[in-house]
Amino acid sequence: MDNKEQYKVRKEPFYQAQRNEVALYEAAYAARLPVMVKGPTGCGKSRFIEYMAWKLNKPLITVACNEDMTASDLVGRYLLDAGGTRWLDGPLTTAARIGAICYLDEVVEARQDTTVVIHPLTDHRRTLPLDKKGELIKAHPDFQLVISYNPGYQSLMKDLKQSTKQRFTAFEFDYPEASVEAGILSKEADIDPGLAGQLVKIGQAARNLKGHGLDEGISTRLLVYAATLIKGGVEPRDACRMALVRPITDDADIRDTLDHAIDTTFA
Ligand code: ADP
Repeated sequence: MDNKEQYKVRKEPFYQAQRNEVALYEAAYAARLPVMVKGPTGCGKSRFIEYMAWKLNKPLITVACNEDMTASDLVGRYLLDAGGTRWLDGPLTTAARIGAICYLDEVVEARQDTTVVIHPLTDHRRTLPLDKKGELIKAHPDFQLVISYNPGYQSLMKDLKQSTKQRFTAFEFDYPEASVEAGILSKEADIDPGLAGQLVKIGQAARNLKGHGLDEGISTRLLVYAATLIKGGVEPRDACRMALVRPITDDADIRDTLDHAIDTTFA
């Protein structure tokens, strides 16, 4: 049996609010409106949802979507075992049954048929048809659907359809403003604010290269990685090359430009 408690976020996650998103999310949840969180990778979307699940004291079921994911992966399937066939609920079905917040991370990655199954859950019906099982689930009153997506690097082909988009309320996230981001780094990795400020500066230099050789800037997540390595004793220039530059580019010119920015910052 699925245990609601196992999906609860037990410890308060550290989340630095950027604007009034916490109050807005609470209002959306109160009305059980579906929520979409847009923004570049590693800017705090998942952390925000985790924090909200904790604050609202609701179970959270997160599904990282990928291109091989089908509707059955979300909804469930029959399994064959020694005892014969038995049905196994997928994560979306579990969330609808127990009244969890279901967070579909990077939903556009999943195949089109998955977006179709979420539709009846996002309107007044709040139902989930399990076609293969011949069952129609009525979502638990606490159930809420949340999706994230990164509009930046999706090809037009992979964009969400308007008929899906227009079923959601939406938050537009971006990398935090410099002082806020420095605060996040110093809290997450326990580093001093001066060092956090230097890392943020490198992040910003890279973000200016977006569209000029870089598809995405350096994320807050990577800045946290760099901060963590430095905190662990790695020399700052090595830490930055390893956490901030090598992961994001294979282009020698861009790499040299960023390495240079690092050397200047930590000269
Ligand atoms: P994504 O937008 O890809 O879901 P995450 O929420 O996983 O990104 O954020 C990546 C990391 O960045 C987090 O693990 C956390 O360390 C840090 N982070 C980003 N934004 C915030 C924030 N507002 N408050 C606290 N941590 C943050």
